[in-house]
Amino acid sequence: MFFNKAMKVYNTLTQKKEILRARKDKEIKMFVCGPTVYDFSHVGHARTYISFDVICKYLREKGYKVFYLQNITDIDDKILNRAKEEKVSWKILSKKFEKEYFKDMKALKVDSVTKYARATDHIKEIISQVKRLLEKGFAYQISDGIYYDISKFKDYGKLSKRTVLQAEDAVSRIDESVEKKNKGDFCLWKFSKPDEPKWKSPWGEGRPGWHIEDTAITEKFFGPQYDIHGGARDLIFPHHEAEIAQMEAISGKVPMVRYWLHTGLLTVKGQKMSKSLKNFITIREFLNKYSPRLLRFFVVKHHYRSPIDFNEEKLFQAKKELEKLDEFIEKISKSKFKSKTSTPLLPIKKYEKKFISAMDDDFNTPKAISVLFELIRKANHRISKEALTQKEAQEILNFFKKVDRVFGFIFFKKIKEKIPEEIMRLVKEREKLRKEGDFESADKIRAKIKEMGYWIEDTKKGPRIKKLEF
Ligand SMILES: [Zn+2]
Repeated sequence: MFFNKAMKVYNTLTQKKEILRARKDKEIKMFVCGPTVYDFSHVGHARTYISFDVICKYLREKGYKVFYLQNITDIDDKILNRAKEEKVSWKILSKKFEKEYFKDMKALKVDSVTKYARATDHIKEIISQVKRLLEKGFAYQISDGIYYDISKFKDYGKLSKRTVLQAEDAVSRIDESVEKKNKGDFCLWKFSKPDEPKWKSPWGEGRPGWHIEDTAITEKFFGPQYDIHGGARDLIFPHHEAEIAQMEAISGKVPMVRYWLHTGLLTVKGQKMSKSLKNFITIREFLNKYSPRLLRFFVVKHHYRSPIDFNEEKLFQAKKELEKLDEFIEKISKSKFKSKTSTPLLPIKKYEKKFISAMDDDFNTPKAISVLFELIRKANHRISKEALTQKEAQEILNFFKKVDRVFGFIFFKKIKEKIPEEIMRLVKEREKLRKEGDFESADKIRAKIKEMGYWIEDTKKGPRIKKLEF
């Protein structure tokens, strides 16, 4: 139903809403910056990834075949520093938080990504890009690594609308080396210190800089040019600017990306989230208190480009709205309606059209949601007058089901984790032993199950298995 006409998206590069035209027929290649896996993801990350999940799913409903690619930054300074603090290897730390990231995404029903690509799985591609930048004269080597010379790239600053000088002021604090040609030059390949992880390269052992992994990964899967690049607003500079400088210098093809989409920032009670202000909310903390459905709804309620302020009052309001929605769905899916009047049917197709034109206008989700609530109001009014027909109820339900393939908060069911077969086998064995009266062996199996991360609770109806949360 969503597959009808062209839609518009706001492009950060041109600072305009433009008609979305895929490079190839109905195929869209979309890349979104993924997490740096050194800690639990926070609600700001959730905001970005839920927004792009909705964007991707809407495009798919419109008939586009979307290849949604996301990188995982599993090597960088933050990871190395945290690993040192925790006294674990950087590999164990990054694997752990990668797993936690996927767990959060699964809970939030963010499941549209086609391919996740780790930086460390693409060292060969990264080295190849650095090599070509050196050959073309866009990069140079100094004592601590290989750097990009921003003065060589004439379009530098075109995404963030900064001049090279403004860029220099902002970057100098991040990539500091006195030998750099320009203050704004950024690192492509870092020579490793003795106790740091390292990979072989033509210039000596080292590790990649941050910006280079994205273009190495997108070049591998998409080629030098593709349709959509997404990410949070605060990545525009220097990160996305650097990506353009790298890829366009290497390929000579412009533009690397047709449409740059950026999500707005998330604040907590009006303040930017930061470790020092202690107002940092991880997704996990949020989910200890509220449902993943509420977070998904709360994000979709806002336009992806708008700032979101996180506070209890607004969450409470969102909760009320979900209750209203649930009440309505319950009513129309369970009741049998026998309309006693002959008023004209509710124009449900008209609401569908309104919904589509809101979404086609740069994914205007708040407007699209208001269309749903308008329909709920109208239908509730009819129900109170005993004027809703069964046909209308069914049509509304079908419409909401289609909408939920994109929004994912209307018919939200908590995902039950499957208990592994090995655990089930042990549970059965333990039951058998208990029946035979061998409680000592049964307890040993219980301990083994616990070691594997599960807990058995013996109830009248038999054993209940629960996953232990650490
Ligand atoms: Zn990135």
